[in-house]
Amino acid sequence: AKKNGKNHFSIYDGSIQSFNYRSFTIKNSMRKAIEEEQFLLHFQPRINVKTLKIEGFESLIRWDHPELGLISPFEFIPIAEQTGLMGEIGDWVFKKSCEYLTEINSKSNITYKMSINFSPNQFLNKDIVDRYLQILRESHISPSLIEIEITESLFIHNKKRVAYVLNAFRTAGFSLALDDFGTGYSSLSYLKEFKTDVIKIDKSFVEKITVDQDIKAIAEMIIRLAHQFNMRVVGEGVETTEQLSILKDLHCDEIQGYYFSKPLPYGQNLLDFIESYHK
Ligand code: C2E
Ligand code: CA
Ligand code: CA
Ligand code: CA
Repeated sequence: AKKNGKNHFSIYDGSIQSFNYRSFTIKNSMRKAIEEEQFLLHFQPRINVKTLKIEGFESLIRWDHPELGLISPFEFIPIAEQTGLMGEIGDWVFKKSCEYLTEINSKSNITYKMSINFSPNQFLNKDIVDRYLQILRESHISPSLIEIEITESLFIHNKKRVAYVLNAFRTAGFSLALDDFGTGYSSLSYLKEFKTDVIKIDKSFVEKITVDQDIKAIAEMIIRLAHQFNMRVVGEGVETTEQLSILKDLHCDEIQGYYFSKPLPYGQNLLDFIESYHK
């Protein structure tokens, strides 16, 4: 047993060391990354299921780390939350997303919307609504073009404060989307308590919707319930025609996914993609 224990320990130790090195590096270079703007945004279109036109885009952050290369938000956002830097990063995301929306809309005769992911940290900041309204005025964007994406986990702490800020955003004209719907443990009760404009069905459901009848039944129920509450439904992570066709049958309003486009950086590819959808 001792021998096994020792063996086990030496392997474990090695992985802990490299894990620590990476998270140590990430943690320690984050402040500099904010100052030097090492982050970038990719945009993924949201497609109307009926018209197949683009309704808007979701902005998704990446970190182009000088030493570690591209880092996924799944990896650095939890660290940014822990170290208290997510408020500042969230501010940057909001400002940049607005700047890009102005760019995109100035090059098109359609007015698109922008969906922006908000992290729980951002709701602790007292004057966030006023500051973000000021950014919108500077970018000449109406709040009605901005959709704030939140997840249920937001409500775990500070429920009162969060509800207060969300209502202030709503009153100012922003729309709200409940992201990753179906993955939380009490989704249905939140639906009733905080009615958002949109719910996004998590991609873990969409992934199985063609092969699992139970999953399909749950998706159908979610969509019906959402429509009952006058909410629109977005299906996330659509990769195949089959998934699209089932979601269409279930009256899902919009979809996002690699089937139409991966998230793209702002540039000619994105503009060409948008243009090809007008025709
Ligand atoms: P999310 O908000 O649920 O975003 C959807 C994720 O699914 C994105 O991953 C997107 O690239 C990916 N995706 C889209 N279509 C498909 C598909 O067809 N198949 C598959 N397999 N994946 C698809 P990404 O960009 O890595 O972002 C991961 C998560 O990080 C996001 O999940 C969101 O929770 C968070 N995140 C990203 N950007 C921001 C941000 O600016 N602020 C905050 N607070 N969170 C962000
Ligand atoms: Ca999202
Ligand atoms: Ca999601
Ligand atoms: Ca997610």
